[in-house]
Amino acid sequence: MKQDDLTDQTRKIELALLSVINQQKIDLVYQGQYKLPSNQLVGLEALCRIPPGPWGDVLPDQFIPVAEEIGLITQLERVVFKQIAIDLPQLLKRHPHLRISINLSIRHVTAPDFSSFIEGWLNALSESNIERLDFEITETYFQLISPTVIDSLQTLRKRGVRIVMDDFGSGQSNLSRLHTLPFDVIKLDKQFAQQIDHPIVRAIVKATVALTQEFGIGLIAEGVETTSQALSLQEAGCHLVQGYFFSHPHPIAHWL
Ligand code: C2E
Ligand code: MG
Ligand code: MG
Repeated sequence: MKQDDLTDQTRKIELALLSVINQQKIDLVYQGQYKLPSNQLVGLEALCRIPPGPWGDVLPDQFIPVAEEIGLITQLERVVFKQIAIDLPQLLKRHPHLRISINLSIRHVTAPDFSSFIEGWLNALSESNIERLDFEITETYFQLISPTVIDSLQTLRKRGVRIVMDDFGSGQSNLSRLHTLPFDVIKLDKQFAQQIDHPIVRAIVKATVALTQEFGIGLIAEGVETTSQALSLQEAGCHLVQGYFFSHPHPIAHWL
C-alpha cells in the first residue's frame, strides 16, 4: 500500500472511531466457546463492530491497532463496556453458566483513571455477573505490562474476574516473564489450531497443555475451522475451543 493510501485509510478509521465515541454506540457480536468432546457451549466472547458509514466497512483488525496508535482505545473500549453492561444480565439470565469474555487493551489498563472507571463499572453489576467475566488481554502489548498494570490485574482478579492471555504464542511471547504475569487462562493463538497437523506445532500444544495442567491454569484454542483441527486439539489435551467450525460471531439476539 502506498503511503498516501495508508494515511487515507487511517483518516477514515479515525472518522469511524470518533463517530462511535461521539454517539457512544457500537455494535457487539458474540462468538461461542465450546467444551470437547460434548460440544457444550461454555462461553461467549464479545467482539466489537463499527457500523458501516461514510468510512466504508472497517474491521477490528484494522481499527483496533489504529485506536491504540492514535490514543482512542480507552474511549472506544468504554463504549464497548457500556454496551456489555446492558447485554451481560440478559445473556446470563438465559445461560447462567456461561463465561463472558471481554477484550481489554493494556493501554486502557494504563489510563490514569482506569481503576476508578472499572470499579464503578463492576459496582453496577451483580456479584453473580462479575464472577462470570473473563478479561482477555492480548499478548501483543505485553511489553507495556508494568508493576502498576500487574497491580490493576491483581485487583480485578480479587474482584472475581479472570484474566486471559489472548493470542498466546503469536510472536510477542516473553516466556521468561510468564511467571511474573497474573493470569488464569491461556488462549492459544489461532495459528496453533490451524497448523496443528505439523508435528512441532502439535508438540508445542501438548507442552502448553502440560504447563497449564501443572499450574492449574485454563487453556482454550481459538481459530478452529475444521473437525480435524478440533479432534487433534482434543487428542493433544486441549478441551476448550472457539472458531468458525463451532460458531461465527453473532449479534446478541442469536444467543437469547
Ligand atoms: P481476538 O480477541 O483474538 O478475537 C478473535 C478473532 O478471530 C475475531 O476477529 C474472530 O472473529 C476471529 N475468529 C474467530 N473464529 C475464527 C476462525 O475460526 N478463523 C479465523 N481466521 N478467525 C476467527 P475480530 O472480531 O475481527 O477481532 C479481531 C481482534 O480485534 C480480536 O482478536 C481482538 O484482539 C480485537 N478486538 C475485537 N473486539 C475488541 C474490543 O472490544 N476491544 C479490544 N481491545 N479489542 C477487540
Ligand atoms: Mg480475544
Ligand atoms: Mg485472540
